[in-house]
Amino acid sequence: MSQRNTDRTIHARNITYLSFFFLALFSFSSCKTSVAPQTEFVLGTVCTINLYDKGTQAVYAEIFDRLREIEAILSANRDDTNIALINSNAGQTATAAKPETLYVLSAALRYSEKTNGRFDPTIGPLVKLWNIGTEYAAVPSQEDISMRLALINYRNVKIDEKAQTVFLTKPGMKIDLGAIAKGYAADQIAEIIEKYHISRAIVDLGGNILAIGEKKPGVPWKIGIRDPETEKGGSILALDIRNEAVVTSGVYERYFIENGKRYHHILDPATGFPVENGLLSVSIISPKSIDADALSTSVFLLGENAGARFIETLPDTDAIFIDQNRKVYVTSGLMGRIEVLDERFKLSGELN
Ligand code: FAD
Ligand code: MG
Repeated sequence: MSQRNTDRTIHARNITYLSFFFLALFSFSSCKTSVAPQTEFVLGTVCTINLYDKGTQAVYAEIFDRLREIEAILSANRDDTNIALINSNAGQTATAAKPETLYVLSAALRYSEKTNGRFDPTIGPLVKLWNIGTEYAAVPSQEDISMRLALINYRNVKIDEKAQTVFLTKPGMKIDLGAIAKGYAADQIAEIIEKYHISRAIVDLGGNILAIGEKKPGVPWKIGIRDPETEKGGSILALDIRNEAVVTSGVYERYFIENGKRYHHILDPATGFPVENGLLSVSIISPKSIDADALSTSVFLLGENAGARFIETLPDTDAIFIDQNRKVYVTSGLMGRIEVLDERFKLSGELN
């Protein structure tokens, strides 16, 4: 979207461009597909599933039904979901929670513990205040930010596993699982794909990629990591993956510009403002997509050094950091698996 007579430009997610975190997939020309890959707008983004030669209409239909079901339970953007009900009962009563809610919320709270509350699924009141990604996005007053900050604390989420309920202890609290639920959804799709013994597939939920199997025996998938400086940029890095998720959090997807300053959607629960630490994007590579999704946001919030140290403690998990100086840092497991495609970006070595 171009800047017009105003100094404020709003960049909202739009179905018209098909690459949300445009992670290009290279050279599939040799692959035969029985039913073409399918794309639908679900979870607030463009979701594309490619089952290659094993794709049937029935399996695609089951996958998209499950995505719509997950959205109908976990969305914080609708008023008819399990999350919306839990939020509307905040400060009043515990709410019966669906298994999906309990699973994803419990995982989110574990990441809150691990990041000392930088990752916080009770970020909802601030997300609604900033409205980033909508036409109403604007910098709020400090007073409004302070009022919302008082509502954000993951420790005030009470899960009763036995009763299968969730209670938010303060009125006005709101859960938002936007930083983790697409990851969960991708893992759920992987289970369906496994059930049908499909050994080769790509699940792309708005750039949140889960690669199943290999491109062909002995040959990994090649996934592109997009240019974080532009909204519709091409790939600047290529990465080899097998049976792994690649999830990116960045400043370039949901943001607006006010008075020449960019405000993106990853909010620091300490300040109430978008986190500013020189990073443009963080990509996480891990076996499970729910972890990659939660970690991409968590590590973005932690910053390069603390984030890399955290990743190095986790098995089979790696990260790519791209900063505002076009430097690319990777954790140790990625050496030899990554190729720079755009010479403006420099691979500056390993972080730990
Ligand atoms: P990530 O880095 O993975 O997550 C960033 C998002 O996490 C932010 O947008 C915010 O929601 C949240 N967040 C911000 N700061 C923190 C923090 N400190 N700790 C934890 N979380 C934080 N978008 C729409 O426009 N319309 C919709 O109807 C809609 N429905 C959705 C339904 C579902 C079930 C899901 C999962 C997402 C939906 N979305 C929708 C998108 C959603 O609002 C987020 O923008 C999106 O999930 C962000 O994902 P990401 O991978 O871009 O960024
Ligand atoms: Mg995330």
